[in-house]
Amino acid sequence: MADIHQEKNAADLTAKTAEERFGQLPMPSLEFTDEVAKETAHLYERVRHHIPEIEWPVHAPYIFAINRLKKQRNAVILAHNYQTPEIFHCVADISGDSLQLAAEAGMVDEEIIIQCGVHFMAETSKLLNPEKTVLIPDAKAGCSLAESITGEDIRLLREAHPGVPIITYVNTSAEVKAESDICCTSSNAVRVVESMGTDTVFLIPDEYLAQNVAKQTDVKILTWKGHCEVHERFTVEELLAYREADPGLQIIGHPECPPEVVDICDYAGSTSGMIEYARGQKPGARVMLVTECSMAANIEEEVVGVEFIKPCNLCPHMKRITLPKILDSLVYMREEVLVDPILAEKAKRAVERMVNLKSN
Ligand code: SF4
Repeated sequence: MADIHQEKNAADLTAKTAEERFGQLPMPSLEFTDEVAKETAHLYERVRHHIPEIEWPVHAPYIFAINRLKKQRNAVILAHNYQTPEIFHCVADISGDSLQLAAEAGMVDEEIIIQCGVHFMAETSKLLNPEKTVLIPDAKAGCSLAESITGEDIRLLREAHPGVPIITYVNTSAEVKAESDICCTSSNAVRVVESMGTDTVFLIPDEYLAQNVAKQTDVKILTWKGHCEVHERFTVEELLAYREADPGLQIIGHPECPPEVVDICDYAGSTSGMIEYARGQKPGARVMLVTECSMAANIEEEVVGVEFIKPCNLCPHMKRITLPKILDSLVYMREEVLVDPILAEKAKRAVERMVNLKSN
């Protein structure tokens, strides 16, 4: 017996991929059997307003198999607020915005994290939890904001503007975080900007977030031309048309939207802030969420009595994550997200500076 363990440990040390370290599992049956129907019936209740009954036999076998395999693998599934309802409500163990997911991941006992979100989120989970194995079901799930800037861009900015602190949004790669002084989220950006103690800062790469923050502080903000391809599509004309048709409508938006759009919202904040705002509305209120449209579908089950209006802008990157790909992740242990340890340490420092600021 001792020999078997020694051999396994030796193999673990030399194995390179997650598949080699953990091994493959057989692909489970994907038939809609009586057992699958019975075991998933309570989950269908959570999504019945979004998934027609006729489609459930397609989703249910995946959900059943994923929920079994994640226990077998000792894995936890994290899902961003923009994931589809069958992922968000039926297989996720933890849901939230990107930073909530990374922070929560640090508190779980499971050794494998399946990140249902985009690549920079999986990187953030990895750098905050280096000892865990982090998998993303589709490694091509990118982000227009994260891809708008590189570590080299930041080094050039620093050379051209010595002494100006560089604050980067969490929607960036680990390489970019590693080159920055501190990170920020859409909910704490004003506080981070004012904590730097300088009269000028860089807040990058989201130009609109920076412009929205600039309206709330005397600190001069230099920015970058990055945009979220989902939030940049909302327009003033579109929102005014909704308001004209329904004068009682509460419009709540994300600060990644253009400043003129944010100006006519009743509230603007991070996805978690938007959820809190919606929770505070009186029964019968009608709320329009100016953000990725899966979020309204995901929260309307828990924010009871509020009617959500969803102007539908989908994030094509978030939608790369599907139930079949999550199942493949669990069966084949792919795609593993790795971050160079030296770079991870530097990036982690920028994230931790922000987190420590929050708790001071
Ligand atoms: S919604 Fe925007 S910021 Fe979020 S992942 Fe998609 S492109 Fe990036």
